[in-house]
Amino acid sequence: MILLKKINDLKTVLDRATIEGKDVSFVPTMGALHEGHLSLLKAAAGASRIVVVSIFVNPSQFNDPADFEKYPVTIEKDITMLESGGCDVLFLPAVDEIYPRNRPEAVAFDLGFLERTLEGAFRPGHFQGVCQVMDRLLSIVQPQMLFMGQKDYQQCMVVNRLIEIRKFDTILYTCPTLRETDGLAMSSRNMRLSEEERKNAVGLSAALSFIKKNLRQGNLSDTISKALDILHDHQFKPDYLTVTDAKTLEQVKDWDGTQMLVALGAAFQGEVRLIDNMVLN
Ligand code: AMP
Repeated sequence: MILLKKINDLKTVLDRATIEGKDVSFVPTMGALHEGHLSLLKAAAGASRIVVVSIFVNPSQFNDPADFEKYPVTIEKDITMLESGGCDVLFLPAVDEIYPRNRPEAVAFDLGFLERTLEGAFRPGHFQGVCQVMDRLLSIVQPQMLFMGQKDYQQCMVVNRLIEIRKFDTILYTCPTLRETDGLAMSSRNMRLSEEERKNAVGLSAALSFIKKNLRQGNLSDTISKALDILHDHQFKPDYLTVTDAKTLEQVKDWDGTQMLVALGAAFQGEVRLIDNMVLN
């Protein structure tokens, strides 16, 4: 694996790979890597491909400065994991490499409803920040294949919208969520949980599993209210727990028995905000 910090060096390596007839597959991350990230790396690897992983804690996607300050950094361990996981190039840029000081002012992307609902509503500016960094990274890396996690369901929809808006020649592959044995979705933020919070954190996937198991045609409010009780019983303070159309994220109150659904939740366990989702049918 080679580690590169400068865009020009990365471009040189990628140009060489293209001449050799290799496709570029790309896994963007914010580091503090876990098995979930490695599963993306595994999906990204393949014959005649060069696999690029980026680690960049993007300041512009944190609506809460304290969350940015406390975001875990485990770079030495990350490098070891990537080396043994089959990464070819680790791109590790500094902030002013991605956002040069004299750059033109950021343009807003038209994300429509995606920016007004769920994560968009609870984290104002978050998805503009995600688009800003993904626009930069996709312009630099120009991958044929991009690998992201279903764990961030709405983020995948936003990035697909960005690819459409900017007409990038990139296909997004959405990979399944890896979970701990008790069901908790793996996340870099889990490291910040105390022992007791970690035990309670199972409540989020338990609430989503409850909705999935009890899904019936007709009104869903009773099921969702019981799932909210599960969150409260596990000391969670929810931002939202809802069932939506899997393609549009429009809330579904009455299910017709055929519409594709996803249940999504975001909740605070102590000071740590966790998100998770499950496709229901
Ligand atoms: P992050 O470092 O949190 O920005 O995540 C980088 C990528 O890893 C994103 O595409 C995430 O959706 C994905 N990811 C995070 N957690 C998981 C998980 N538990 N399983 C699979 N992919 C994940």
